[in-house]
Amino acid sequence: MLKIHLIKAFQDNYIWCIEDTTSHDCIVVDPGDSSPVKNYLDKNKLTLKGILITHHHFDHTGGINSLTEAAPIDVYGPENPKITSITHPLKNNDQITLLGTRFLIKEVPGHTLDHIAFYSEKDTSHKDSWLFCGDTLFSAGCGRLFEGTPSQMLNSLKTLINFPHETEVYCTHEYTLANLSFAKAVLPNSEETNTYFNHCQQKITEGFSTIPTTIKTELSINPFLNCTKNELVHAVCKHSNSTDNSELAIFTALRSWKDNF
Ligand SMILES: [Zn+2]
Repeated sequence: MLKIHLIKAFQDNYIWCIEDTTSHDCIVVDPGDSSPVKNYLDKNKLTLKGILITHHHFDHTGGINSLTEAAPIDVYGPENPKITSITHPLKNNDQITLLGTRFLIKEVPGHTLDHIAFYSEKDTSHKDSWLFCGDTLFSAGCGRLFEGTPSQMLNSLKTLINFPHETEVYCTHEYTLANLSFAKAVLPNSEETNTYFNHCQQKITEGFSTIPTTIKTELSINPFLNCTKNELVHAVCKHSNSTDNSELAIFTALRSWKDNF
């Protein structure tokens, strides 16, 4: 059986560890720092068998060299020469099998141009479908546009929300409360957003993570996935003093509103 564990790194990064509870083999996703990963592997007597990388930012790749120096380990990630430690470069719709489960690769440019996501459909080894989407889709938000265009990010988010609604979403930062504060500012009367904010605030206070979320939850509370909804269109047009209510214009203005929030 496969299980997912959270390893905290830096201020608010999450490194996901997928563990085979029978063999005690594991893979990690976006190890920006090797120390917390090594500590976790030692403590739980796990053997690292592979590394998944979503994009080139250092807080996602910084731990690779230290984790692979003792023994060669397969590193799967985007085809980007900037990440010299990738042993298996991946392209859109590639499929790989690790720990006996299959991962489908989707290119999701926007936050960076090389960004990819890993999707694993539920199978005999795990009962839920999983999406590892790095800094593309966050709970109640989306990644900043460092390299890509709003149009690229909007399309990438649409690719991700096409996966089944019950899919568990494993993003790599705990940004949920800040994102929900923004969502509340955009849509102060949204009952779903207010209720979900209170729910997440309680989780954080009790020392829990708000991740994973699900596609279903995100569709109801994430403003960046709702750029055609009347209420949101109205709020964004009013804030940006614009009459362009196309989905892309709303998404672009919303992203820029959040950047300055
Ligand atoms: Zn990033």
